Amino acid sequence: MNFPLQLSRFLVSLGLIATSAFSTANQDTKYAEPGFILSSIKPLQLIAADINQGVIESVSLLPPGASPHAYALRPSQIKKIHAATAIYWVDPLLESFVKKSFNQYADKSFALAALTVKPLATTTAEALDHTLETPEQHALHSDEEEAHSEHEEEHNTDTHLEDEQDAHQGHDDHQHSPVIHQHKYQGKDLHIWLSPAKALQIAKLMQLNSTKLFPQHSALLAANYQRFEQNINDLDFQLNAQFNTLRGLGFLVFHDGYSRFVEHYQLNQLAAITLNPSKRSGAKHLAQLRDVINEDKPVCIFSEPQFSAASVKTLVRNSAVNIAQLDPLATDINVDKDRYVSFMKHFAQQFIDCLGSSSP
Ligand SMILES: [Zn+2]
Repeated sequence: MNFPLQLSRFLVSLGLIATSAFSTANQDTKYAEPGFILSSIKPLQLIAADINQGVIESVSLLPPGASPHAYALRPSQIKKIHAATAIYWVDPLLESFVKKSFNQYADKSFALAALTVKPLATTTAEALDHTLETPEQHALHSDEEEAHSEHEEEHNTDTHLEDEQDAHQGHDDHQHSPVIHQHKYQGKDLHIWLSPAKALQIAKLMQLNSTKLFPQHSALLAANYQRFEQNINDLDFQLNAQFNTLRGLGFLVFHDGYSRFVEHYQLNQLAAITLNPSKRSGAKHLAQLRDVINEDKPVCIFSEPQFSAASVKTLVRNSAVNIAQLDPLATDINVDKDRYVSFMKHFAQQFIDCLGSSSP
């Protein structure tokens, strides 16, 4: 349809020509398909963008720097949810601010914490419905997860995406740190994007879902996933080596959201400053933290860009501990290729720099 320019403007102003408030100016050249994939938080958006590169745009619902633990939706964001082609989020317990809205779109939204992708070698897009488990089905696997935490089975090279299993096999060194490696979370920490193994699962799920939506782009989606998997495995191999000499060094984190990463790389997290980031820590908890600082002598305390560092500074007054920052929501990541692996690299480097700087 070729309207004269003035007529087009007139019709647009009346709302008679559909315009998407969310499309970018150069979408036609960057993405084969109109519309967009919506992720609740930026780290999920980075995975979605890597997988859907060249196919469809990926956007984040939460603005950079906002914490999913305390957020209220705006009307423009509710419109975005309505218009999205597919929606990814973690869990109603993590992003409670979108629980009601996302549940209204159950047909196109995926709560990733409750979903497990399996068996990957034979999974096709047509089989997607059967590979996505409901939370009830997932509960049936909790026994398996506990069996996993005992680390009695051998690592299977073909199924390295299983929950909490390392993306690289062969470092069976759990015996050297029985106290450090407590598995107190039993795979229930909802900050799932901080586990490289879980990120691979998420990426696989997104690939399968997009292949179902856009079968004409199945080859590109498969290539995007392969690149993602290769990048993660390479980084994981590198990080395991880099963390080798840092595993015993104690540190404190700001909020209790790092167990996926800490357990994956078997690091020595001594405590979290806040157990609930939307509340102030109580006097009793602060006293316990001071005991940990005095007795266990952590090497680092990590604050976060989302929260005020004032409480951290007060805590470490008169002690030699280093203060550094972790960015679990990828606030500072601005790349347009290999986005998730860039984030993970940057995130891990924050640990490596701080713990490494104080090695004797
Ligand atoms: Zn958190």
